[in-house]
Amino acid sequence: MAEIKLNHIYKKYDNADKYSVTDFNLDIADNEFIVFVGPSGCGKSTTLRMIAGLEDITQGDLIIDGQVVNDLAPKTRDIAMVFQNYALYPHMTVAENMAFGLKLRKVDKAEINSRVQDAAELLQITDLLERKPAALSGGQRQRVALGRAVVRQPKAFLMDEPLSNLDAKLRVHMRSEIAKLHKRLNTTIIYVTHDQTEAMTLADRIVIMNAGEIQQVGTPLEVYNNP
Ligand code: ADP
Ligand code: ADP
Repeated sequence: MAEIKLNHIYKKYDNADKYSVTDFNLDIADNEFIVFVGPSGCGKSTTLRMIAGLEDITQGDLIIDGQVVNDLAPKTRDIAMVFQNYALYPHMTVAENMAFGLKLRKVDKAEINSRVQDAAELLQITDLLERKPAALSGGQRQRVALGRAVVRQPKAFLMDEPLSNLDAKLRVHMRSEIAKLHKRLNTTIIYVTHDQTEAMTLADRIVIMNAGEIQQVGTPLEVYNNP
């Protein structure tokens, strides 16, 4: 649950001669499911990474629940990011992968175990907890990556093309799992995809980006019926 306000945000990478994101201005409501779409290189990932704190904001304010967080470290922003390539640690079991972020944050052991169990049940991976990532299918890895975010009980989830490495059938299945997750957890999600069907089925509102700018914002019906 978080209200996220991007107040006229700009990004220029140090080694770049032009801006990657220009005047990105958007208010995201508590529990909203927002989807960013747009061609490769239009600034979707950069915007997510600024929200997560993985990239500095060149200009403008990022406001989470009323607090300007531009200078807060990623760890203290209470936002979880799920990546396209899952980013699991190969030498750790599923349970250890899920627990890792909580250990870093000094959550106590009993609490960690209970959260890992709950998230594993939610994502239906209870029987995989002792396996290593190498022994999992793509869909199972994606569930673990989601589970690792869920255990943190973050204010918001950022998902950067989380399903794009899955085959078409599995992608459709995981899409509805993510929709369920959103309902069950009652949480804010910002989701990047290339897939128009994903955007239409998941989004409360779609943000269409082009060349670093917001081109259009609206519900799926508004966006795809008024080109
Ligand atoms: P995608 O479009 O699938 O998000 P990219 O291939 O654009 O992925 O980027 C992958 C990684 O490379 C990201 O971490 C991004 O920040 C970095 N990257 C992209 N473009 C450049 C660039 N021109 N110079 C340096 N790093 C870049
Ligand atoms: P998208 O996620 O929409 O594919 P990105 O946010 O990855 O787009 O990239 C937006 C623009 O910023 C692109 O022109 C890309 O080349 C540039 N870019 C991304 N990451 C870096 C980086 N680390 N250094 C320099 N330029 C980058």
